[in-house]
Amino acid sequence: MTSAPTSSSTLHAGGCLCGQRRYRIAGELPAVVACHCSHCRRTSGSAYSLNLVLDEAQVSWDGLPPAAYADQPESGHTLERLFCDRCGSSLASRAGLMPGKLIVKLGSLDAPPADAPRMQVWTDSALPWAVFAGLPSAAKGR
Ligand SMILES: [Zn+2]
Ligand SMILES: [Zn+2]
Repeated sequence: MTSAPTSSSTLHAGGCLCGQRRYRIAGELPAVVACHCSHCRRTSGSAYSLNLVLDEAQVSWDGLPPAAYADQPESGHTLERLFCDRCGSSLASRAGLMPGKLIVKLGSLDAPPADAPRMQVWTDSALPWAVFAGLPSAAKGR
């Protein structure tokens, strides 16, 4: 990715439903990845999750850090799911497969990016009607 002069000053913010957990993201937002795994379905309460894979250093938490749940995902690798233990909103996750990365849930952003997802993973676990036609796909994780 090229570093546009504005990228370092771009600031995105987000947080949970009740406002107790807030974060800020420095820099540009990456392409959106949809995850159809059964654990994302359950934690999102929806058909799939929408994710932004960021460098952990790009994200700073205001006030209380989020609560964490040690998940045992389908991939078999470790996955820490970050959420608000007051209102239950899913906020982010840390995957053992991607050290140094923080995977932020798109729906927690104050102003989610307008661009549609560019990739989808775990389509083997997807609800058939929820698969994005024509999108680059991984049957399982990446
Ligand atoms: Zn909350
Ligand atoms: Zn998932």
